[in-house]
Parts: sequence; C-alpha cells; structure tokens
Amino acid sequence: MTMPTTTPPAPASEKPVARLQKDEARVQKREPATGWRVLLVPLTALLHVVDSEAPLAPRKPGRTGPELMRIAPFALMHILCVLVVFVGFSWPAVVLTGALYCIRMFAITGWYHRYFAHRSFKTSRAFQFVWGFIGCCAIQKGPLWWAAHHRNHHRFSDQPEDTHSPRQSGFIYSHMGWFLTRKNFETRHHHIRDFTRYPELRFLNRFDLLPPVLLGFALYGLGELIAAQAPGWGATGWQFVVWGILVSTVICYHATYTINSLSHVFGSQRFRTGDDSRNNFWLALLTFGEGWHNNHHHYQSAVRQGFYWWEIDLTWYVLKMMSWVGLVWDLRPVPRAVKDGANAA
Ligand SMILES: [Zn+2]
Ligand SMILES: [Zn+2]
Repeated sequence: MTMPTTTPPAPASEKPVARLQKDEARVQKREPATGWRVLLVPLTALLHVVDSEAPLAPRKPGRTGPELMRIAPFALMHILCVLVVFVGFSWPAVVLTGALYCIRMFAITGWYHRYFAHRSFKTSRAFQFVWGFIGCCAIQKGPLWWAAHHRNHHRFSDQPEDTHSPRQSGFIYSHMGWFLTRKNFETRHHHIRDFTRYPELRFLNRFDLLPPVLLGFALYGLGELIAAQAPGWGATGWQFVVWGILVSTVICYHATYTINSLSHVFGSQRFRTGDDSRNNFWLALLTFGEGWHNNHHHYQSAVRQGFYWWEIDLTWYVLKMMSWVGLVWDLRPVPRAVKDGANAA
C-alpha cells in the first residue's frame, strides 16, 4: 500500500537547484515568528544540546553568518583543553588520545563519508548502527546530518550553492564557519531519504550527543579503574575525560575540516573535475585517505580514494580487511576506464 505523502514529487522538468530551494523554504516555514527572541534563542540552543530536531528560535531576517549560540559550545571545546594543565599527563592518556583519534577518524571517513554519504559498500543494519554510534562520538553531529550536507557539497562543488567552498565563502568559513550557521544546523532530510527510513538512525541523528556523553562516563570509569589498579601509571578519571573527549576530539575536528578547506586549495589535480578539489599526500595521511580528494570528486562512488598502491588510503585498507571477515561487502571498485581517463590539469 502506498503511504500518503505531504511532499508531492517534483515535476521531471524541475531543475535540481529549484527543488533544493523549495525544500529549504519548507524548512524555514517551521520556524516560529514571535517577539520572544531574546529568551527563545538561548533556550532553544540549550534544547538543541539534547535534541537536535527541536524547533529553532526565530532569527532576524537577512542574518546568515555563524551564530553566537553555536560558536560558544564549539569555542568552549577548544578553551577547555587547557584543563590538561590541571589533570596532568600520563602515557595511558596519550595512547587513549591517539586511539580515539584513529577510531573516530575512521568512523567519519569510512562510515559517515564513504558509507552514509556515498554508499560505496554494503553492510548489515546492525553494523551500520554501530558505526553511526561511534561516528556520533566524534561530536560532528549525527550521520544523517553529516552525510546529507556532504551530498549537497558534491552536488554543487565550489558553486554558489556549495555548503562549504573556499572559493565561494572563504577559507575560514569552509573550515569551521558553515556548520555554525542557522542555515546548516538542520538535517537536510531531502538529501538522505535512503537512510532516514531507519528509525534507529533517526534516533541517533536526533540525540547525537548521547553517544559522546556515554563515552565520557566510560572514559572516567576506565581512568579511575587504572588509577586504582596501577597507580604508578599516573592516570585518573578526569584526565581520561579531558584528553579523550576534549583534546582528541578537537584534533579530530580540525583534521576532518582540512578536507573541506585545504583539500580545495592545496595539492594537485589529476582530473579536470571543474571544481577546486585537490590530491594531497599529507592530508591523505592525516585523514586516513580522504586527502585524495580530486580522485574522489572525479569518481565519488568508489570505496577507495587512493586510486594507486602508492596513494596511501588507510580507510580503504581497514574496510578491505572488514570485507574479508564478512562485516562489509560489495565494495565498489574504481573502474579501469576512470583511471585511464586522467588528464593533468
Ligand atoms: Zn564525498
Ligand atoms: Zn570536496
């Protein structure tokens, strides 16, 4: 039986840009228009900490830049890193910081990006939830929000409608401004309908701070356990929270953001993609393969972004190993013709 829908399909002749604008207009209509902005803005901002689908407070027309209520928690994550002075240093904390960077970077590159945004391989419903959960621990919002915005990036690469283009909006905005704006706060559900049909993913996407909060409790418990069992190591619960949730996350933030900023500025272009995407060896190392960004813009659906053996792509290696034990399958390859079509720009 066909379910009734409030969103009639767009006519075949309608341009993608026009469709997108209509979808955006529908999102805007849901905003309340009252004179209680002064109270509503901080109130709804607090509400969004718990529920990212809560209604947005009204905003003065014409303002489109980053908002204070979104800049504040992001800035606080950075400022609070100075707490390392109080909680101190230990080798277990350093190992934890590195391990959490690796697992969460892989969750972003392998799952938020190559799976949820590009569907470049298949997996089970349970495993997609597990990696959606781990991805939330990177505190870059939920998998549906992330993947939907990324699909928009590819759709309009470096064109005016691109969510984060250094060419269009400047370097800083493409690095860490775009996600602090009202316009980009909400999940663009119309870009990710293939995954919004899973209620467990919608739950994760809505309460995306729940996984990192649980991680924080787990890290505190682990640190205290080590403090009790091996006091000579110098670890404590709060030390693990500060290094694991703050320091590691902030490093992971900026490494991830380089792909939206630096990867569209510095590097080489193997393919004439019509945008500014670049291949950059150092960024590929830092982001586990995402630095082969020109390759990726040229052929988005391949699970592998390093097209040759010398293009190091850690995410691809791990996904390949996962396929050997049946955790993932149908990894989409880079067709020979795609590689042969390279034309130095
Ligand atoms: Zn992509
Ligand atoms: Zn890009």
